Amino acid sequence: MSIAAPTQPLDFIRQIVTDDLNAGKYGRIITRFPPEPNGYLHIGHAKSICLNFGIAEEFGGLCNLRFDDTNPIKEEQEYVDAIMEDVRWLGFDWGDRLFFASDYFQQMYDYALHLIKAGKAYVDSLSADEIREYRGTLIEPGKDSPYRNRSVEENLDLFQRMKAGEFPEGAHVLRAKIDMASGNINLRDPVLYRIIHAEHHRTGNAWCIYPMYDYAHPISDAQEGVTHSLCTLEFEDHRPLYDWVMENCPVPFRSYQYEFARLNLSYTVLSKRRLIKLVKEGHVSGWDDPRLPTLSGMRRRGYPAEAIRRFCDLIGVGKRENVVDMALLEYCVREELNKTAPRVMAVLKPLKVVITNYPEGQSEELEAVNNPEDPTAGTRPVPFGRELYIERDDFMEEPPKKFFRLAPGREVRLRYAYFIKCQDVVKDEKTGDILELRCTYDPATKGGYAPDGRKVQATLHWVAASHAAPAKVRLYDRLFSTPEPGAATGNFLDDLNPDSLETLANCRVEPSLGRARPGQRFQFERLGYFCVDRDSGRGSLTFNRTVPLKDPWAKIQKGK
Ligand code: ATP
Ligand code: MG
Repeated sequence: MSIAAPTQPLDFIRQIVTDDLNAGKYGRIITRFPPEPNGYLHIGHAKSICLNFGIAEEFGGLCNLRFDDTNPIKEEQEYVDAIMEDVRWLGFDWGDRLFFASDYFQQMYDYALHLIKAGKAYVDSLSADEIREYRGTLIEPGKDSPYRNRSVEENLDLFQRMKAGEFPEGAHVLRAKIDMASGNINLRDPVLYRIIHAEHHRTGNAWCIYPMYDYAHPISDAQEGVTHSLCTLEFEDHRPLYDWVMENCPVPFRSYQYEFARLNLSYTVLSKRRLIKLVKEGHVSGWDDPRLPTLSGMRRRGYPAEAIRRFCDLIGVGKRENVVDMALLEYCVREELNKTAPRVMAVLKPLKVVITNYPEGQSEELEAVNNPEDPTAGTRPVPFGRELYIERDDFMEEPPKKFFRLAPGREVRLRYAYFIKCQDVVKDEKTGDILELRCTYDPATKGGYAPDGRKVQATLHWVAASHAAPAKVRLYDRLFSTPEPGAATGNFLDDLNPDSLETLANCRVEPSLGRARPGQRFQFERLGYFCVDRDSGRGSLTFNRTVPLKDPWAKIQKGK
């Protein structure tokens, strides 16, 4: 099979695949995405998913979903289910190619017996601490364990008894017999099996010895005929061990490992250990907290799967570690939602406006555009009446320079409606708080344009007081206040942003949103993109702010 010349330069992995196919090395490539079910997937995993499934798709190959479930202590069915949901949501399909490393436990065990018989593995009875001591350092070679030269018979006997459950945890391990003086510490007789007396989410109590990642992974790849086993750079030094397992076990297929740079993202953490800590210690509301970089959190926040895939495309695949700016992900989200999200009007911090020359008890329906980016999206009616709400931030009694919105005596446009002019400000006598604005409207400006050609400098969004639906809106900011959480103190929790969530309980949204369903996304005009949260229901509406629009006035203020 020959691969057509691409329009863009290939990344190094796609180049390898192209070369392998052109050389006739494989008829069809097979990749795999191998999550350990010990947490929820995050955006870093999305990079790996897009790469593995993407390459298989592009080159007419297959991609397996394989759970790397070799540690019964940390793994749970809940995680398996959540991971499958997330991969599907991202838009990828493994068909009937769902596998579990635990499906190969018997095979791995048989290969271990093979290694022992070939004199290439032995049972070691040093403690974990001793094994670490004997291993040496980057500058000193390791020392042989006193158990390294046990006979094949003794090793077989002990290993079988480990499996039979005769020993407590830590009493023995099975190690590969490679080279205690190797310059690569991973080759200094790595542990292949340890004893764990714990129930496994799939194999129950069938096993009490469990294989290590470095042993289980190549064997799983080989069992599935994986041609290109793609993993992150920290496994580069493990590749010689991967190859050793391939070469010394009677595997049915020879797989090869290739390493790419993991995704690092500013202002967040992408490590399951840290994410688990945030969830278990209650720093966030759960795995799908919209502030987390988990796929379930991003989904709940309103990030479209297309935007995440586009982001993974843009960052590309390379060999050099770097940190990607969160702003790039937000850019992708905005770009996608700009095309797809219907526009609506919502007022987050309402300020009442009474149109004094609009007849009492009267209302009318005005026509609003659903999506200027999509002519097929049509229009919808929005009600207008004598009493309205506008955004509190859109009015200033004493406007500074460059504030072009509503102020006493000033005229502005209400989107899709009329020009209004502020005539009076009604205040609470005691507190001085602004209670409402008294305005007049110009009936001749219906639709938002003056027949005499006069201009206004601002267009405000609004809702009709009598028709609006109440809503709760959650505004999210970054979960961490520094680009590299923990860089200064060593503890990433020190950099949690105390203001990462602000809840506005008293918002008003246009009546068409009364029919909105959880997961639906909208652009609130002039404010940003918002997604209906699953906490909505029975007449109550809760929105999550997915991402704000770029706000020119906020920028001016910040710059001061
Ligand atoms: P973490 O480092 O967050 O604990 P992990 O590597 O232990 O994650 P796995 O479930 O083992 O999590 O990962 C499954 C696959 O996803 C692996 O192939 C891993 O290399 C890849 N992966 C994990 N994190 C990233 C990341 N930040 N960028 C790219 N790929 C990643
Ligand atoms: Mg891992």
